[in-house]
Amino acid sequence: MIPMVDLSRQYAAIKGEIDDAVGNVLQSSQFILGPNVSALEKEIAADLETEHAVAVASGTDALILALRACQIGPGDEVITTPFTFIATAEAICHLGGIPVFADVEADTFNIDPDDIERKISPKTKAILPVHLFGHPAAMGPIREIARKHTLRIIEDCAQAYGAGYDGRKVGTLGDCGCFSFFPSKNLSCCGDGGMIVTGDAETASQLRLLRNHGSAIRYHHQALGYNSRLDELQAAIVRIKLKRIAAYNDARRRNADLYRRYLTHPQVIVPREKADCFHVYHQFTLRSDRREEIMEALKSAGIASMVYYPVPLHRQEVFQTLPSKGLSLPKAERLAAEVLSLPMFPELTEPEIAQISHVINHIH
Ligand SMILES: *Cc1c(COP(=O)(O)O)cnc(C)c1O
Repeated sequence: MIPMVDLSRQYAAIKGEIDDAVGNVLQSSQFILGPNVSALEKEIAADLETEHAVAVASGTDALILALRACQIGPGDEVITTPFTFIATAEAICHLGGIPVFADVEADTFNIDPDDIERKISPKTKAILPVHLFGHPAAMGPIREIARKHTLRIIEDCAQAYGAGYDGRKVGTLGDCGCFSFFPSKNLSCCGDGGMIVTGDAETASQLRLLRNHGSAIRYHHQALGYNSRLDELQAAIVRIKLKRIAAYNDARRRNADLYRRYLTHPQVIVPREKADCFHVYHQFTLRSDRREEIMEALKSAGIASMVYYPVPLHRQEVFQTLPSKGLSLPKAERLAAEVLSLPMFPELTEPEIAQISHVINHIH
């Protein structure tokens, strides 16, 4: 049996360090906003080469708080991709904003800058690109559009810790970068967690208020905030994995190269890295018009595969009250019908990749 992700292999390799760190936090009895959270914030800001990092309770909260700090509110339009996890657009809606879906590029699965331009209206306040599956969105053109129309950029980096565009890390190319430490993400904890990075000191202090009930001094509240803090146990765990994140991402890239070498089926399109981009392969996602047969063959061979995502957001039931109801986004719709993600994690081995590819190559 080969699963999509096997976290037990990672734990086995770092068990001693993780168990010690968890033991130390339990011994310290300091669980909320303590030394591990502050240290992790400094380490992530340094690793991504930006000024500020603010830890929060999840990737979803990172998006909500970042949108709040960028002054997105009722009636504001935020242009985003329909081909992503629901949280991206959910966050916009929770603030009373309106997600406006632009179509995607078929090769990177990411939002198409040309369609962003077409979707701009007088109500547009921000662009929310997602670096889907670990491949950076087209941040050069997106930044140019934002500059021209004075729009904010909030990057959804939940799947892309360590990805790069033009020599810079994703998350540092807009006003705020939002990360998730959900267990299956490239950089993860053992529960829920998230981080927002920003180059702007004012935005960072706003985010610190928002995550802690609008309070800088205990029992004095300046803003209507949230309870959205990362806890010390999770921060201690992320710190251990952060030391190894470059090696983890390199192993994912090596595995992607191996898949490309072994997969030879003529009706399978493999993902590639665009020029000036550094892909971190959160997923290795094929396109094929024979997807269902491939899934069946893999399943019979005891190999997991998953469709991320079968329904684009503009077609989700929950969003049928939005102005985008009835909208046609042909590329996103086509991808939803063709994509298939294969097992991908740093510890996946070459023999496993050969075995998975062999099953696919032998479909006639
Ligand atoms: C996982 C994910 C999120 C949400 O992160 P959580 O930590 O699960 O709240 C947001 N956007 C994308 C693209 C994701 O993959």
